[in-house]
Amino acid sequence: MPERMLPVSMIRPSRRDVLALASALLATAVTGPARAQGARGIVIGAGIAGLAAARALREFGAEPVILEARDRIGGRIVTDRTWADCPADLGASWLHGTDENPIVPVIRNAKLKMQRTHDDDAVIRLPTGAEADGEAYSALMDLESLIDDLVADPSCQGAGSIVDAVKAADPELFAAAGPLAALALYNAVGGDWAADPSDLSACRLGDDEAYGGYDVMLPGGFDGITTHLAAGLDIRLGVTVTSIRKDGPSLVIETSAGPVEADYAIVTVPLGVLKAGTIAFEPGLPAEVTGAIERLGAGALAKTFVRFPEVFWDDSTVIQRGAESDGWFDFLNMNRVAKAPVLVSFCAGSFAREVEAMSDTDAEAAIHEVMKGLYGTSVPAPVGLRRHAWTRDPLAGLSYSYPSLATGADDRAALAARFDDRIILAGEHVSTSHPGTVHGALVSGVLQVKALFGS
Ligand SMILES: Cc1cc2nc3c(=O)[nH]c(=O)nc-3n(C[C@H](O)[C@H](O)[C@H](O)COP(=O)(O)OP(=O)(O)OC[C@H]3O[C@@H](n4cnc5c(N)ncnc54)[C@H](O)[C@@H]3O)c2cc1C
Repeated sequence: MPERMLPVSMIRPSRRDVLALASALLATAVTGPARAQGARGIVIGAGIAGLAAARALREFGAEPVILEARDRIGGRIVTDRTWADCPADLGASWLHGTDENPIVPVIRNAKLKMQRTHDDDAVIRLPTGAEADGEAYSALMDLESLIDDLVADPSCQGAGSIVDAVKAADPELFAAAGPLAALALYNAVGGDWAADPSDLSACRLGDDEAYGGYDVMLPGGFDGITTHLAAGLDIRLGVTVTSIRKDGPSLVIETSAGPVEADYAIVTVPLGVLKAGTIAFEPGLPAEVTGAIERLGAGALAKTFVRFPEVFWDDSTVIQRGAESDGWFDFLNMNRVAKAPVLVSFCAGSFAREVEAMSDTDAEAAIHEVMKGLYGTSVPAPVGLRRHAWTRDPLAGLSYSYPSLATGADDRAALAARFDDRIILAGEHVSTSHPGTVHGALVSGVLQVKALFGS
């Protein structure tokens, strides 16, 4: 097969592609390109991209083997069931947009319950506990809509960060939002991208797309999706890949369980693993690929489930705090989702890294202090905490990718391109249309299989 770069139009999924994916993922083996059948295919990583890629390969009549370093499948989709009344999704927990989302048919097929969440059902409080008044609230809303407009503006006025762009567009509005300015930036971009707004490129933020419809959670645990997709696949757990070497017409994949020979490899390890260089490629990856790996941002989202003896907080879906000196902005009320006295704190960017560095005891104490500020000094102390430090996990190295100031317009396309006839990358970071998401990772897994086999 000749080596060639695919044009971006072929990498970015069309509506038809996306709709076809849903049925492809549920299909049993069918006849596909002869080159795929009988070939020794290896998929590296059993996250949603790897599982989707393996299912797409099976659709082509191939019988791929998935090598996964962890002792579980799912990667950044993992449900902790320590609390029977409140499964804790320590990685992804929302399906963002139900319209045309290829994960919806998977969820329906697996008979998993979906529950709509209402992010706009939020109470906004100042660190003192006082509810934001009408004036402060409307300044926050105005600032958020200005940021949305700037992100959507294809002319991308002025290089630099979204913070620079906002300050240049309307410095008075920024000042008027006062203690809620940082919260507005978190709500509009920082939280979604797991990054400091000052490192988010104003030019690149509008590159991705979003589905319409609702945001939904799976009260029974998001891992129901990956468990369903993994059924019937050949997955070898506890096998860490250390290098991929071309050897004549074959690939030699060195692993913790010894070398494996293959005809092709689909590499779905996270951007953080690629950045760390844990897997050696021989020969090395092309310069445009290594450059893109370097330039894309590695986001940090510290998601902390904290259990209290009782519910003492507002009866709204989301509780937000207009913090100026820290990043404790955002709490999801699990009493609305699971009827349990649990809050989920979300922190993004450099503050998330600080939270990840805290011991569990210190993180619990810090959240207790924040709650005392909001609801009074008599609020009870937490009785448990569940979390996973994704940026400190060598098998992730990040929460998800983001468009940093250094990111170029073609960087994700460079990762998605078929730069080689035997090795291709897949995963959320490779999605040109829905990066940083579960559906982006799933679509990438399927499209990269199609790209590798040229159909
Ligand atoms: C805290 C958090 C919250 C999130 N919330 C949402 C959300 O609500 N909605 C949403 O859409 N997205 C969310 N995301 C993003 C979403 O989880 C990811 O985009 C998606 O799960 C990535 O899937 P993937 O298959 O690309 O990568 P992964 O799931 O990371 O899979 C890659 C796999 O490769 C394995 N691996 C790594 N190195 C090696 C090696 N050397 N050898 C073998 N195997 C290896 C890893 O163990 C892993 O299983 C969230 C992420 C985080 C961290």
